[in-house]
Amino acid sequence: MELFSPLKLKSLDPHNIPEVLDTWFDQNERLMPWRETRDPYRIWLSEIILQQTRVAQGTPYYLAFINQFPTIEKLANAPEDEVLKLWQGLGYYSRARNLHFAAKQVMMEFSGEFPNQYSSILKLKGVGPYTASAIASIAFGEKRAAVDGNVIRVISRLFGISEDTNQSVTQNTIQKLADELIKDSNPGRHNQAMMEFGAMQCVPKNPNCQNCPLSEYCIALQNQWVDQIPLKVKKLKRRSRYFHYFIIQDDSNVWLHRRSENDIWNGLYQFPLIESSSNELNLPDAVFSILGSLSVEMIKSNKAKKHVLSHQDIYATFHHIKVKCLPESSFISSKLNEVHTFALPRLIDRYLESNDF
Ligand code: SF4
Repeated sequence: MELFSPLKLKSLDPHNIPEVLDTWFDQNERLMPWRETRDPYRIWLSEIILQQTRVAQGTPYYLAFINQFPTIEKLANAPEDEVLKLWQGLGYYSRARNLHFAAKQVMMEFSGEFPNQYSSILKLKGVGPYTASAIASIAFGEKRAAVDGNVIRVISRLFGISEDTNQSVTQNTIQKLADELIKDSNPGRHNQAMMEFGAMQCVPKNPNCQNCPLSEYCIALQNQWVDQIPLKVKKLKRRSRYFHYFIIQDDSNVWLHRRSENDIWNGLYQFPLIESSSNELNLPDAVFSILGSLSVEMIKSNKAKKHVLSHQDIYATFHHIKVKCLPESSFISSKLNEVHTFALPRLIDRYLESNDF
């Protein structure tokens, strides 16, 4: 599928982008020890170390690993403690454990030869599509675009992709565009050029657009979208909350309270509420905090029910409390049969409906 054609690029052919990029890379490539080799073991090691780690921090670790474990066999045969000790300070220790495990995999499942195809490299523990593409293209010349965060940024700006890059459909589009840009000749160098361009030129904040060799191709620049692309919509963490409602009534009236906090349901009416950290509550203490020493005729609690909001799960427990006569208080006193005339959160409304209140 040809993806370039529908995009409105100022009459410039995006197929020229790789050439421009390669020239830029020839002039701007940073020297790194793993760039001097095509040894898949060393390339793999560098890629694992550089996940979530800056080049400056990762380089001494790379050199120490190569020094201590010059071959994958030496790494596989080392005790795990030795590997973890050498990794100390880099964080994300699962990377070190996976590295060690994958070295053993190579020795046992691939007869000590590092796998030489994307599909088999992907079988190694701790190796995902990006890392497998990088190793396959750099070490074995396989034509496969390696798409990391840098490449996502470059491609989405160049092609004006304004959709959320955390969505898999957007990631697929970016992968296809990256695949179209990759060349038959030296795909590994092209991948490195793309990543380096993202790391040095098309950086997240204040990219150097004024001196960018790709500025004429760049849809984000033409439309002044550079600081808005790539769009990453953060997933909001769901929050669990535990609401204990107290339906405090006498024969004809019940107490209500109007929510005024900067929170959900602001301005709506509810029964007196105590929010706790779980479904458990010290009921006598809770009742005392609302009613003081007023004598209570009956207490009945229902089981907590879950109510799902967009970013919150509310676990609501209703406690029915009957008193002889509701005293004066700061709560609003409502006739029992008029509660439904107040603006109520759906959760309370439903509860009243299902309990014939
Ligand atoms: S013009 Fe700016 S945003 Fe576009 S590719 Fe170049 S550096 Fe990135």
